Amino acid sequence: MYNVSIRDIKRQAGLTKKVEYNEPCDIAEVDLLGPVNVVLKLTNATSRITIDGHIETHVSLTCSRCLESYRHHLQFDFFEEFLPEGSPELGNGKDLEWEDLSRFTYTGDSIDVYELIRQNILAEVPMKPLCREDCKGLCTVCGENLNSESCSCSVDSE
Ligand SMILES: [Zn+2]
Ligand SMILES: [Zn+2]
Repeated sequence: MYNVSIRDIKRQAGLTKKVEYNEPCDIAEVDLLGPVNVVLKLTNATSRITIDGHIETHVSLTCSRCLESYRHHLQFDFFEEFLPEGSPELGNGKDLEWEDLSRFTYTGDSIDVYELIRQNILAEVPMKPLCREDCKGLCTVCGENLNSESCSCSVDSE
């Protein structure tokens, strides 16, 4: 479903095309809440296809302080490029920089953007999620969630 035909823009350098998706996406590593809105602008940059992308969706995360799950809004822009399979710029597989490993390739007249979408979403999910900037977390003594309750032990915890 995330297969984009580039037959039309391959004809001439500089041609662009825009594709947009707004549908559920299956990514095993994240709990997506609702559809993923993806806008991609593909450009024929002669030796490669460049992509300016925008993604917006909601994911369910577990706060690293209070352990409550919450709805997190993801919205970000990204830039990626797809090199044709066999491009000399891809190197021989031995001395690839980390940067090169993240590079996407394509063959023929279409590119598959699923991996692109997946990897960019995973990169944007916070490593230490917080339900809010000032989350008070759990009381280290009684385990009460201090965002909603105050406990007696928190008073003389110093
Ligand atoms: Zn929290
Ligand atoms: Zn307590």
